[in-house]
Order: sequence, then C-alpha cells, then structure tokens
Amino acid sequence: MKDYSFPHEQFDDLLAANAEYTKSFQYSELTGSAAKGLAIVTCMDSRINPLSVVGMRSGDAKILRNAGARVTEDVIRTLVLATYLLNVKRILVMPHTDCAMARGDEADIHALIDEKFGVDTRSLEFRTTRDQKAALAVDVNRIRAYPLLRDGVTVAGAIYDVKTGTIVPVDC
Ligand SMILES: [Zn+2]
Repeated sequence: MKDYSFPHEQFDDLLAANAEYTKSFQYSELTGSAAKGLAIVTCMDSRINPLSVVGMRSGDAKILRNAGARVTEDVIRTLVLATYLLNVKRILVMPHTDCAMARGDEADIHALIDEKFGVDTRSLEFRTTRDQKAALAVDVNRIRAYPLLRDGVTVAGAIYDVKTGTIVPVDC
C-alpha cells in the first residue's frame, strides 16, 4: 500500500520554522496585487533573494523563477495574467553570474546527468546558453514582442552578480 501521509521526517523543520514565522506575521492585510508594479523573472539559484536585492518585501512584486531565468511559455502566460490582473507594469528579467545554465551547451548538461545518474534527459530542453547576454536580449524581446502583453508595460534585462549582490543593467 502506498503511504500518502505527510512525510514529517523531511519537512518538520519547515513546519517548526513556520510556527515561529506566524508569531510575528505582518502581511495579513496584503492583496495579491503587486504593490510596486513589478515582476522579476530570475533563476532558481538559491543565492538570489529577489525581493531583498531590489529593496522590496512581501506584497511588492511578482517573482517568477526557473533554471536560468529563461522566458518560457509558462513565464509568458504568467506575465500576461500579471500585467492585466495583478498590477504589473514593469518586468525585469534577471539571470545571474556563475549560473550552471550558462556554463555549457544543452548537450553538455544532458551528458553530465547521463554520466552521473545513467538517465537520458534529452526529451527535455533545458534552454542553456553559452552567451548569457545574447540569451537575455532574446528573452526580453520575446516578452516585448508578445502580442497579448498589456500595452505600456516596460521590459528590461539585467544580470545579478552573486559575488557582490550588484544588479548590472544590460541594453536589450
Ligand atoms: Zn542560475
């Protein structure tokens, strides 16, 4: 029989931390609208705290994350909704330095996983790039050119430096 019960051994530290968090919870008045009119598309990299790096807090911005901060169909879908319904008026696409998704070609990543785990992942497109700035320009313009994006939304690109915390604007 399959065990569908909550796996406490792996998650109890989270629940304990959450119990502490709720003791001083301050965000019950917030709505789902982005108070500062911002969406950030960034990488899943655990060194990035997207709200903190732009001086924001809960309620201020929409944060979309994936491997490499790439603008995929699902990112576009989410941004379209966010611009019409959730007050997003400006979008920052923000990949980062030292990103594993900008270190090698697609084939290298598949080979690495195959080598380490014996699994063929080639049915997935990881969307890696060797030229991070060029990929960023493609992604920024992919959003700008999307016909259903709300009029008047500003889209920009920048690269986050994981060593200094600096956001470096990129002309796209
Ligand atoms: Zn990354």
